[in-house]
Amino acid sequence: MAHSPSPKLWYLPNHRDALQAHMHFFHKLVNAKTEANYHAYYQTLIKDGTANGATSNAYLTSSNVPFKTKCIIMKYKTGPLYNQKHAVLLKLSTSETRPLCPQADSALHILSGCQHTQIRNMITKRHNLACRMIFKAISKTGSLGSCIVSKDIGSSERLTMQFLPIPETAESRIVPKWLFPFHFPDKDRFTSSRPDFVLVTPIAAKTQEQ
Ligand SMILES: [Zn+2]
Repeated sequence: MAHSPSPKLWYLPNHRDALQAHMHFFHKLVNAKTEANYHAYYQTLIKDGTANGATSNAYLTSSNVPFKTKCIIMKYKTGPLYNQKHAVLLKLSTSETRPLCPQADSALHILSGCQHTQIRNMITKRHNLACRMIFKAISKTGSLGSCIVSKDIGSSERLTMQFLPIPETAESRIVPKWLFPFHFPDKDRFTSSRPDFVLVTPIAAKTQEQ
């Protein structure tokens, strides 16, 4: 009776670089490059205080975020979110151009750069949805909800549907005059893009933008 050969086992000196080298060599899992752009961009944001590590990774442990969504976010943050560049690399296509629009494909293009009407509407909708969630969280925390004096996060009807307060200047698409220095030209003010929120804290002359 033939016996199948017992699997070859050996010890790895550690669970870090030795394990990584093993996985890459035997299972083609591709080395994670810590000097690559994605890693470097994120580290810069953490170091200069623009991003908060605990907050930006909270989605990983949140029960409100479906597993599939967590995977997509992870792929976006680390690089392998499938797009035409991957298709070319895997020899599934010969063109790096998007099938929907004539531009070069990338993860960033899919999530926020595409100008195709349908995709652009989806991007705006996703942006407004995320902003309304932030607005809701601010409104729930203490009394800061009433300190939001301007917003650009979708229609007032949407805010009403979610029982969110409507700022006085909600319908105006122009950035309030008082947000700019005294002699700031109106021409430039009218063409300035509106911040998602303008939140004025009770301390006079202290303005925070989000
Ligand atoms: Zn596009």
